This record gives sequence, structure tokens and C-alpha cells, in this order.
Amino acid sequence: MAGKARKYFGAVEAGGTKFVCALTQADGTVLTRATIPTGDPAQTFASLRGFFDAAACDHGAPAAFGIASFGPIDIDPASPDYGRILKTTKAHWTGARYEDALGAFGVPMRFDTDVNGAALGEWVKGAGQGADTLAYVTVGTGIGGAVLHRGVALNGSGHFEMGHIRVSHDPVRDPFGGHCPFHGDCLEGLAAGPAIRARWGADLSTLGAGHEAVSLEADYLAQMAATIILLHMPDRIVFGGGVMKSPGLIEALRQRTVSLLGGYLEGIAGDLSDYIVAPGLRDDAGLTGAILLAQRALKG
Ligand code: ZN
Repeated sequence: MAGKARKYFGAVEAGGTKFVCALTQADGTVLTRATIPTGDPAQTFASLRGFFDAAACDHGAPAAFGIASFGPIDIDPASPDYGRILKTTKAHWTGARYEDALGAFGVPMRFDTDVNGAALGEWVKGAGQGADTLAYVTVGTGIGGAVLHRGVALNGSGHFEMGHIRVSHDPVRDPFGGHCPFHGDCLEGLAAGPAIRARWGADLSTLGAGHEAVSLEADYLAQMAATIILLHMPDRIVFGGGVMKSPGLIEALRQRTVSLLGGYLEGIAGDLSDYIVAPGLRDDAGLTGAILLAQRALKG
């Protein structure tokens, strides 16, 4: 081909139940994508490798990979374990390395958590655009949170684990003991999808907007929202994930957050309809973030 060679990127949103992978053009346009059920690492990595081998054959080899993965995962580029899954309750995944699946391509790889990746996707192309400091929360099988400042995820020695914060739990109103194998009634133990199903025998979306379950869920999530606001003073918070699709939940969450803040913050007031928002990219935030990570991997 004459002129500048075309560049392609490999992107992977690695979730606990499914991997979404794509080969894209340099501008992020998806050329081909596939969804792979998350099995054990050997099965999943074989499918992942197979997808990118075929995509490379059909279009061209990726110049870099971006991987937004479920955690815990080592996201320190200086670490010898960069991109390695850390100790997890997810069977067989402790110690798994994406390098084993994709290293044969011999191109740069950038790793981050699925939550940081989704936050990045929303900041660049979704509901987080224009926010200097953006918080992103996902409520689904687990609960995770990220904070981006000018497009860079804040992390400590590792990524944040906001889902496991302690929340006020009234055992009279909510006798459910909690579902977290580590902490029992931490936020995730009380408010993630599996806790809702264990407590009510149904998903929140089927219980209906007026159900006590929605009010209780909003109470727990508002404690997280208020905590994030007080710690980070974000310009906006995106709340995504399967549970957040439940009718009436985001409205109840906004109301409860206003109530918890108690009028203390003059700049965060009103009905919060422009402040606590749904994802703009719907279910594609994570994959979009992975594409952006691949682009960043090449820039170094
Ligand atoms: Zn926990």
C-alpha cells in the first residue's frame, strides 16, 4: 500500500461473565467485534487469541491492545505483574496474565480495570464529557467506582475498591445479613445484583419502581454517592451497570443523595438530574474505554 500504513487497535472489555473484543481502525471505528463467554482462563484466552488471529487475517494486525478488565488486577505499568489478575474469588483466574493470550502479537498493551476503562469511555465520548473531575460507578454483579481527573484515573497503590466501603445498615429495616464473602454487609454485600436477588428473590427491575427494594437500594447507593462527593468533589457522577436500569432507581438515588448532603454543599443542589446521570454510551462504555487505552498504549 502506498503512503502511510493503516493502523489497527485491539480492544478487550473483560468482564466476569463475558469478554467483548474488537478490532478497530486508528480512529476507534469498530471493524469487527465478538462476545466470548468468560470461562476459565485457558478457554477464554484461546477464544480471545482466535478472534484476534482471524481479525488480523481479515483486516490487519493490531498495533496495540487496550484491555479493561475485571479485577483485582495489577495496573502499575512499572510492575513485573502488570496485567496480571491478582488474588480473586473467581475460580482459576488468580495469576492469569493477558500477556499469555495476546503477547504473541508483540505490540504494546495498556491495562486498566473495567471500571476505570468505562469511566474513560464516558469521559471522552459519553455522559462525562466536559467534566474536569468525573466519577463513574457501576452497579451490577459487583459494585465498582472510579474517579478520573482530566481523563486520568486516580489510583493508589492499586485501583480503588469503592464497592466494599461500609454503609449504614439498619437491621430492622433490612434484616439481610449481606452477601460479600469478605465483609458481609459492605456496600457490595448489600446492594449488588446478587444481594438484591438473595434478599427479594427477584431482580430490582422486576419488582417495580414503587417497591421498597428500590428505596432501600437508593439509600445504600446514595451513601456511596455522598461519600464520593465529599471525598472527590466531582463535577458529575455517572451511575451505570445492570441494576441501574431499574425503573425509578436513579431518581430515588438523586433524591436520597440530596437528603444525605443536607444542604451542606451549595454547588451540588437541586434535583441533581444533570449531576447524577446514566451512561451516555449505554453498554459500550467499557469497550470504548478499552479502545482509548489501546490508542494510549501506542502513544506511550
Ligand atoms: Zn465487601
